[in-house]
Amino acid sequence: MSVAELVVLGTASQAPTRHRNHNGYALRWGDQLIFFDPGEGFQRQCTIAGIAIARANAVCLTHFHGDHCLGLPGLIARRGMDRCSDPLQVFYPADGEQYYERLRTCTAGLMQPLLEPRPVIAGASLQAAGSVGDLLVEVAALEHRISTQGYRISSPGGRRFIPERLKAAGLAGPIVGQLVKHGSVDGPDGVVELDQVSEEFPGRSFAFVMDTRTCRGAELLAQGVDMLVCESTFLESERSLADSYAHMTAADAGRLAAAVGAKKLVLTHFSARYSNMAAFAAEAGEFHGDVVVAEDFDRIPFPA
Ligand SMILES: [Zn+2]
Ligand SMILES: [Zn+2]
Repeated sequence: MSVAELVVLGTASQAPTRHRNHNGYALRWGDQLIFFDPGEGFQRQCTIAGIAIARANAVCLTHFHGDHCLGLPGLIARRGMDRCSDPLQVFYPADGEQYYERLRTCTAGLMQPLLEPRPVIAGASLQAAGSVGDLLVEVAALEHRISTQGYRISSPGGRRFIPERLKAAGLAGPIVGQLVKHGSVDGPDGVVELDQVSEEFPGRSFAFVMDTRTCRGAELLAQGVDMLVCESTFLESERSLADSYAHMTAADAGRLAAAVGAKKLVLTHFSARYSNMAAFAAEAGEFHGDVVVAEDFDRIPFPA
């Protein structure tokens, strides 16, 4: 199975702090690299984390509040400077087209890299928005103060050989190709069926839910995922603020992850008012057993 890990580039919400940059995430999955919600300072965070902006295949924006998109101009400029010839897909809410255009054209940069805009109108149900390599990109609408969409990225399942069983059946070399093609072959000890020496493996999935209050869209995106990255701007002690600004608490995120059977929950997008992050782990941990409170530059692998 291909390597999949989240590289955390920023974990602050509206205001960055001395220890937390604005939002920013890189999902490394096989040979694909997908950025999510690049806030201010994204380019430098990538440099520190050893993530090459030139290598990215796609950027997914949830919405056009500044902490989720002000890093886009720098990211684009960097690809121009690096003379990237590969296209970069940019997914974003279609009704934010004016903001995308402004971000894309806001400086006098001469070298415009190749961008492939993917404006999406997300609805109440999960819908396909495109693909990045063999990874499927789906979106669903979230409930925030402006148009916002979350993302679900999934890899296809497949079939893999079990080396010990191949060896036991005496199969190696071109005959294995024949087995794939025909479903069975005559081995040295008799007929071998594909099922005897191989097994199916399920696809894997990742959800990015931000900024939102708890809603049906968040549940659809996060259903059964291997990793759920979820905003938890507040703690329950600030419940009224969470409700008024359409954000989630750590408890909300824990409840969501438990309800949909997400394997690993990564909390991020913290209000600058907090310094005791153990409280976030404790609050979400009441509901879910595998909670990570993200710090800038964490590298978080998908669960085994
Ligand atoms: Zn935000
Ligand atoms: Zn927002």
